[in-house]
Amino acid sequence: MIVDWTFLNVFQQCPEKGHLRMELDLVPIAPSLALEFGKGIHISLDVLHTLKSFEAALGKFSEYFGKYEGLDSKRTIGTASKLLYAYFEMMKIEPWEDLPLVGERGSGELTFAFEMSGKVVYKGVIDRPGRYNGELAIKEFKTSSWPTNFISNPNGQITGYYFGGVSLLGPIETILVDIFGVFQPLKSGKESVRQILFRHLQSRTSKDWERFSKDVLDTVANIERWREQNYWPRYTDFCSSYGGCAYQPLCMDGVSQQQREAIIGQMFREERWIPGEPDRQKEY
Ligand code: SF4
Repeated sequence: MIVDWTFLNVFQQCPEKGHLRMELDLVPIAPSLALEFGKGIHISLDVLHTLKSFEAALGKFSEYFGKYEGLDSKRTIGTASKLLYAYFEMMKIEPWEDLPLVGERGSGELTFAFEMSGKVVYKGVIDRPGRYNGELAIKEFKTSSWPTNFISNPNGQITGYYFGGVSLLGPIETILVDIFGVFQPLKSGKESVRQILFRHLQSRTSKDWERFSKDVLDTVANIERWREQNYWPRYTDFCSSYGGCAYQPLCMDGVSQQQREAIIGQMFREERWIPGEPDRQKEY
């Protein structure tokens, strides 16, 4: 089985959600502004690293996100401008140097894939490999409406990036997790760098491999079991997470087959999940 963090995480959140998204290939038609904003920030940060130009990065963001401008009070070009500028200012003083690598998509991102126990291939994309204080390091970017709640350890996604980085580059000293706070703008408009940009310095060691691989293989075994039984439990604690589960109309009790088909026709489209595409399904 080929997996990535998002694939596993969706099943961990709720097996029925994983079934609808990953097995039946159903994707909500309505765009997720959180997802699109996060994508725009990632693309713009890539430009910022490559061209070292705030204007070019913001231009790229506007080009990508412009069609959604005005649909959300938090996720705007103005918010992106503050976030990118804060990061640009930090770049000027941090002891970071990009590695001279060009990712598969012509960007600084780095795609990795490694085998686990001969039965699982784990794929992912590292946002930015480089050197921090002269030592090998990787950067991971997150956008979040609750940046102070973000936990970097334990965090299976971050651990996966560590082992992905090690598989391609050798021992990684530091993982820099940069979390961009997507806040409602203050009336004063005076947010400081510290209020909107958070950095966690992380590390993992080869000893963490055993726990990480057990976690991944345990989730894979559960997915295989649910597939075999064609039974996908509903973990209802997640129904209201991330602004509400988009699959709720399909998941409710009392929905007939006819209604279900009508809902799918009106609200969903089909798209296969491709493991190893950037993990930007949502804001944290
Ligand atoms: S609505 Fe709740 S139970 Fe149904 S798929 Fe979504 S998270 Fe799972």
